[in-house]
Amino acid sequence: MRAVAAFPADRTMRVVDHPEPRLEREGDALVEVLDVGICGTDREIARFEYGSPPPGAPYLVIGHESLGRVAEVGPAVTRVKPGDLVVTMVRRPCGHPECKACTRGRQDFCFTGDFTERGIKGRHGFMAERVVDDAGYMHVVPAHLREVGVLVEPLTIAEKALIQVWDVQERLPWTPAGVPPGSGHGEKALVLGAGPVGLLGALALLARGFETWVYSLEPPDGPKARWVESVGARYLAPPGTALPDLARRIGNVDLVYEATGAASVAFRALEALGTNGVFVFTGVPGRKAPIALDAGVLMRNLVLRNQLVFGTVNAGPDAFEAAVDDLARFHARWPAALGALVTGRHPPEAAPALLAGPAAGIKEVVSFAGAR
Ligand SMILES: [Zn+2]
Ligand SMILES: [Zn+2]
Repeated sequence: MRAVAAFPADRTMRVVDHPEPRLEREGDALVEVLDVGICGTDREIARFEYGSPPPGAPYLVIGHESLGRVAEVGPAVTRVKPGDLVVTMVRRPCGHPECKACTRGRQDFCFTGDFTERGIKGRHGFMAERVVDDAGYMHVVPAHLREVGVLVEPLTIAEKALIQVWDVQERLPWTPAGVPPGSGHGEKALVLGAGPVGLLGALALLARGFETWVYSLEPPDGPKARWVESVGARYLAPPGTALPDLARRIGNVDLVYEATGAASVAFRALEALGTNGVFVFTGVPGRKAPIALDAGVLMRNLVLRNQLVFGTVNAGPDAFEAAVDDLARFHARWPAALGALVTGRHPPEAAPALLAGPAAGIKEVVSFAGAR
């Protein structure tokens, strides 16, 4: 069967004839892959800056943002059944008995760093016609979300972030307990970046009642800005709004959701974080020259404004469940805008060129559905 693979030895991306996966354990399920989203991580793997094949394998089958349909299940599987649409989690435990995170199924908080990730680190991924995995890692997506289900995995970044934001903001006696979907919490959130992670994050914030601003470099009359305004958020961009003006434009910024991976943008925006605010880093910066910043101002604000800054990566089962629920909510409230996030579907044969070319669109998808 066809799969898209990265060959580190000669630094090429190729479509390969990969062995058919089979059910090996009683709890396994076989999934026919429909869609696989492409993100910055895949592009880094395609540039051979990141990622590693399984031990001894000459290549890594890439792909971690998947949507598939269950075709066959082992005798012990009750969680999914043939015909179900599923999204499969990416990270697997490190296997060290002393890792308190992995031994509790929370490898998204792994201490050792020896976790594996399908399509990224030490395990083949989902950009293949069929895949097999432990059904315990699969999350069922309602059938009516077929066209957008591939967005579940990138949405889990925001879901894990917001679960943690609520945990820490329960320090404020007026914050409702638990993440209140659609409760109109009435706070002000700023999203940095208008890629898929940022835009999905904006929808998650809007759905929770945050007054939401998106700051990005694209022009204020461009398609990204129009999309942002169509869902009820506000769009800010330079030169109309410079980073130091953010607080003046927005007021008390209760939450910053950073999704640019650009340290120069993130730390300037940190200066705009308001009283009792939380700043969440989700983007991973590339290797760039050091930036200058006034650490004294940041430190002063952190203390005098009771601020909290944290980073977050990957996601646990609770975030996957929340992402499926939220995606259904987004689909009901913003059907056109949600669908517009998937800007292209391509056959697997087009994947190597797509990964090597400049990033275009919002979420580009490699689709295996047309071949069946
Ligand atoms: Zn990704
Ligand atoms: Zn671990």
